[in-house]
Amino acid sequence: MNRLIINTDSYFDGHRYHCQGPYRLVIEDRLILNIQQGLCGTTDLPEGFADARVINAVFVMPGLVEAHCHLFLDGAELDFSARSEYLKVPFETMLATARTNVGANLKSGITLIRDAGDKYGVNHAIRNEVSNGGAAVIRSPGLAIRAPKKYGAFMAREVSGSDEIVAAVNEAAKDSDDLKILLTGIIDFEAGAVTTMPQFDMASLTLIVETAAKRGLKTFAHCSGLEGLEMAVSAGVNSIEHGFFMSEALLDRMADKQIAWVPTFSPVHFQWAHPELAGWAPDTISNLRRILDNHFRHVEMAYQKGVPLVAGSDAGSYGARHGSALIDELCFFYEAGLPMQEVLVSATSRPRQLWDCPSNKIVAQNEAELILLRASPFGDQDALRQLQMVYANGELLEYSISHEATS
Ligand SMILES: [Zn+2]
Repeated sequence: MNRLIINTDSYFDGHRYHCQGPYRLVIEDRLILNIQQGLCGTTDLPEGFADARVINAVFVMPGLVEAHCHLFLDGAELDFSARSEYLKVPFETMLATARTNVGANLKSGITLIRDAGDKYGVNHAIRNEVSNGGAAVIRSPGLAIRAPKKYGAFMAREVSGSDEIVAAVNEAAKDSDDLKILLTGIIDFEAGAVTTMPQFDMASLTLIVETAAKRGLKTFAHCSGLEGLEMAVSAGVNSIEHGFFMSEALLDRMADKQIAWVPTFSPVHFQWAHPELAGWAPDTISNLRRILDNHFRHVEMAYQKGVPLVAGSDAGSYGARHGSALIDELCFFYEAGLPMQEVLVSATSRPRQLWDCPSNKIVAQNEAELILLRASPFGDQDALRQLQMVYANGELLEYSISHEATS
């Protein structure tokens, strides 16, 4: 019998902040038996708990969700040629990187990870490995889809024409948790814009989204720039990833259709914070700042309008480190003007609801999958970097170090 008592000053249950503590969480074999408020004596403990392990925390919340990362890539590798050479290493080497990255996610309190694509099959392999008793849960799209010769070679297969589209989506439906679509290219930082046309036309995109829906696959689309965003919203993808150059009119339509938005500030912020690495000229640096300011403004607007914001860091991409980049992302949401409660919802209950994943809400009779922090993020956002323990899959993982911001 595995019995645990967690005393905490306050907690966030996945939806709401509880700050009239102290509280005592009584956990038996992964199940939260009850949550007691106030200073309780040992006589209030259920039978058999006299010798239970007792842990004192300052703040408790559900395990975090990372909605967008590439597990096979190491975001901390900053050498451009080493990054391209890496794409030639054996599968086992990539899988070992993915294992390390899952560990880094756990060290930041992330217990549910949605991979956003790799063409080598590392994401499926690590998902299958971890689902076998690991502390984290991984959702994997396997291979994403893109138009021939367009952006996304490292994560997507090429499809052209209706038959290939339907065949590719049907194939993905066999073993993918979600369908990743490469709808646009990436931002040209020197031009300060997305300079390429969307990869698919409206008919093809609609066919992709409708076929995926028939197969029970949710769609998430890599998309930046107004033309692509207009198409993604009209086609009704489930989630827009990145979404740079957003507009207020599009946010209204996203709120109506409840299309999620994963804004992934981290990689662009890293380019702005470390322009010397890519050798950006002053004009490019001011483009990066303008793009970020615009993004902050629209994320705040999205919150006001009720667009389902979800936190994802694009970790694995240049400068975005697994684990800490998600915490950076939460701080960017806070900086954009979201209240801390909303920030935490975007990385806990909301993605779980949107993806039909089991709830890890901290409430009596639910399974305990939670993290302990040494301070409350409601007092100081940096508390999110002060992880004490993770309790997931019946395992207690202890951490003694605090993690610094990466950018
Ligand atoms: Zn990505």
